Amino acid sequence: MAPARLRTIEDLGDLATKTVLVRADLNVPLEDGRITDDLRITATAPTLQELLDAGATLVVCSHLGRPNGKRVDALRLDPVAARLSEVLGQPVRKLDEVTGTEVQRAVMSASAGSVTLLENLRFDPREEANDPEFSSDLASLADLYVDDAFGAAHRTHASVVGVALRLPSAAGRLMQREVEVLSRLRGAPDLPFVAILGGAKVSDKLGTITALVERVDALLIGGAMAFSFLAAEGVAVGRSLVEPDRFDEVRAARRAANARGVRIQLPEDVLAAPEPGADARPNVFGVEEIPAGQMGLDIGPATVRAFAGTISSAGTILWNGPMGMFELEPFEAGTRGIAEAVARSPGFTVVGGGDSLAALRRFGLAGRIDHLSTGGGASLEFLEGRELPGIAVLMEEGT
Ligand code: ADP
Ligand code: MG
Repeated sequence: MAPARLRTIEDLGDLATKTVLVRADLNVPLEDGRITDDLRITATAPTLQELLDAGATLVVCSHLGRPNGKRVDALRLDPVAARLSEVLGQPVRKLDEVTGTEVQRAVMSASAGSVTLLENLRFDPREEANDPEFSSDLASLADLYVDDAFGAAHRTHASVVGVALRLPSAAGRLMQREVEVLSRLRGAPDLPFVAILGGAKVSDKLGTITALVERVDALLIGGAMAFSFLAAEGVAVGRSLVEPDRFDEVRAARRAANARGVRIQLPEDVLAAPEPGADARPNVFGVEEIPAGQMGLDIGPATVRAFAGTISSAGTILWNGPMGMFELEPFEAGTRGIAEAVARSPGFTVVGGGDSLAALRRFGLAGRIDHLSTGGGASLEFLEGRELPGIAVLMEEGT
């Protein structure tokens, strides 16, 4: 039997005069109604443009935030429509409903080659319930379905799974590229394969750590999660963020790494301060010397050098999670140093995680990374080897 294959836009045939429902991931960060990072919009735009260039009329849908089945004004898609329109260079007609007769009428009367954006899918509780009737209502708007929302592929939601089962369906280009790149990391990465993990909570990423230990040659750990690794071995880390209820799992991951000969590299030094703050004056301490009243809020310069050394000889690099509280200027150097090392690397580089991508963009280094994974939780679940429901419905047995 040939391996399962992801259906792509080619599989949909001639798109001229067809209406295509596109599930996009336009879940961008907002502050006071303004988009603070439009990466998810620009990342899916080539798919939309390709469909338009092929003669299709588009109905685009997405979720935004967590309205939990209720209409939340702050989570309407109007700012997204405005930005999408700028990126595509053509008007985007934004509707105020997700489904219903108004939507039916608007889509029926849409002119050829136009783009219509539905309201936030998660305003309707039936979206997250994968409700059959809601799925049918969405499917009735179009002839074909394209899913470009890799970031939602781990969800069994109506717009991800239900619709795909009701229309001829295929992956969009962003979805396709995410699956290709992450499959390569899961399958046959160029060696040595080095993973860099950071971020706030070790509990968010234990599944990923456990899965990566089976695949990588070295695992570099920074961010707050490093303190759980250190504290689990009895190191006193002052007031740094730790999750004691996860120490057993952390120790188990370390044993698994040792058994496979995988090097886990932890910080040697950190920047610590009594409190996080934009005007904090941190000092560098060896990890064994963090004062009882202080918190480790970034990796130190010796750690940056050591991590950069491992990074420079990697064939493949996966990075997820900042090395410190980079949002605050006094604690950004560690994340910046690692971002520069990854950008310089001759290996194949993949960076995922909302905050990690925000850091890269802030440092102006996003363009020097081979693949920016927009997936977040979906990317991590994919790397863990789990089957994602939104991808499973787009797979076809080869012939
Ligand atoms: P991503 O979105 O890239 O997956 P996470 O959401 O897991 O990353 O973690 C990002 C957050 O971790 C950032 O807000 C950052 O401030 C925080 N963080 C990193 N290091 C520390 C630390 N030492 N102490 C407290 N918070 C930290
Ligand atoms: Mg995050």
